[in-house]
Amino acid sequence: MLGPPGAGKGTQASRLARERGIPKISTGDIFRQAIADGTPLGLKAKVTMARGQLVADDIVIGIVRERLAQPDAAPGFVLDGFPRTLVQAWALDEVVVERGSTPLIVVDVVVPEHELVRRLAGRRICASCGANADAFSGNGAPPAHCDACGGVLVQRPDDEEQVVRERLKVYHRDTRPLVEYYRQRPTFRFVNGFQSPDRVHQEIVAMTDSAAALAARPAAPTKHVERPL
Ligand code: AMP
Repeated sequence: MLGPPGAGKGTQASRLARERGIPKISTGDIFRQAIADGTPLGLKAKVTMARGQLVADDIVIGIVRERLAQPDAAPGFVLDGFPRTLVQAWALDEVVVERGSTPLIVVDVVVPEHELVRRLAGRRICASCGANADAFSGNGAPPAHCDACGGVLVQRPDDEEQVVRERLKVYHRDTRPLVEYYRQRPTFRFVNGFQSPDRVHQEIVAMTDSAAALAARPAAPTKHVERPL
């Protein structure tokens, strides 16, 4: 699942994973958990995340490789927040080849920038279970407690305005080029993320069904993409 911060990738990835009965793998969640647990990985990631920058490729790639090797990911997986750089995308392509699995299905969630800023400023997450709650989804007053578990809602430190600006800059510089990297593939899709979450979900289900049908066909010759040196 590709898209800028605030596009709704996390929410949509969770819904799709639930629907398909496969795990959602969110690198951001893995780092937040490591920070909460105070592990060496968490200590390394904390400063980088607080600045809105990206954790080093070799660290992220190692974590994703390990996670994808777990038995529950054997039938498939939904990736949220990975890949975020071309180096990560190349590593993911290598994993797909090594697994001998069907091609990746890539969905780019498109949302206008003014809406991203609005959503990120209003986003609250549950301090207990990490679920997302949109502060603007109710009748004006931000909700105080999590719908799922009743936990206290807090703002993610990297959703503060200055950090959001840096995250969007990093997105345009490092992650946006992945759209060009993937868009020639027959299993690449765009979805309009500026609609209700239910509508976005329905469209993602339909487009991943059609892409999966294509992906299951015997491989047709595809255009060779050169890695830049
Ligand atoms: P997210 O929850 O996906 O918005 O990720 C939160 C933060 O975790 C990002 O701003 C990065 O600092 C870090 N992070 C998550 N995924 C990656 C990734 N694939 N590569 C580098 N850093 C990442």
